[in-house]
Amino acid sequence: MKRNPALAGVLIGVLLLALAASGCISGGSKEKVLVVGTSADFPPFEYKNTTNGQITGFDIELITMIAKKIGYDRVEIKDMDFDSLIPSLQAGKIDVAIAGMTITDERKKVVDFSDPYWEADQAVIVRKDSSITVTSVDDLKGKVIGVEKGTTGAEYVKKHLGSNVTLKEYPGYVEALQALLNGQVDVVVLDSPVANMFVQKYGVKIVYTIQTGEHYGIAVRKGNTELLNKINSALKTIKNSPDWNKLVAKYFGG
Ligand code: GLN
Repeated sequence: MKRNPALAGVLIGVLLLALAASGCISGGSKEKVLVVGTSADFPPFEYKNTTNGQITGFDIELITMIAKKIGYDRVEIKDMDFDSLIPSLQAGKIDVAIAGMTITDERKKVVDFSDPYWEADQAVIVRKDSSITVTSVDDLKGKVIGVEKGTTGAEYVKKHLGSNVTLKEYPGYVEALQALLNGQVDVVVLDSPVANMFVQKYGVKIVYTIQTGEHYGIAVRKGNTELLNKINSALKTIKNSPDWNKLVAKYFGG
């Protein structure tokens, strides 16, 4: 029988492909990576460490713990504007979004949320030297209000104050805070836990809290029930373990 070099070459090629696909010659099994979207200007939930620029925070540690528990080797963090998170989830660019994101009926139409893991209200902050006092939402009428685009704070102001205020929407809190410190806006409306951090770090104070009673959840693509169920069971386990109290103490000092 005559050998056919071309056929032998094809056979070897097919064999190599099969081995590569089975992971035998690629140096072991493929790493399982959970791609996590966040918006890293929301301390203490997610922010950039000032010394090394690394994204860290309560949410980042929480999702890393969850990912380990449900069989991922590591998380890959993708930082973006808050209002890009849901579109990125829908487009399949990220597997989950964790960003102090409030569970709302509106968002529930397009993504699924985990069980709640934190609570927040909306705080009204002003410059430390400001004489603005607020005793009800109506006192905000006539003011220039800064918010982060796409947030529940922005929605609240639009819904309850509408054309009675001048609303300035910023892509992130860094810009909103800057505008407040520069005097371009009178007040900023943002989540109370983050406002508390800003008070400690910058020349601002909280003059009023709107009791919105929000709950934060981890978002997944609509219908990704398998991942959602795993996240919920891991979240439950973590919340009932000493890890939870350690995490809370680390980021909230309690
Ligand atoms: N909790 C607010 C929201 O969901 C703000 C979140 C954020 O800015 N990261 O809209």
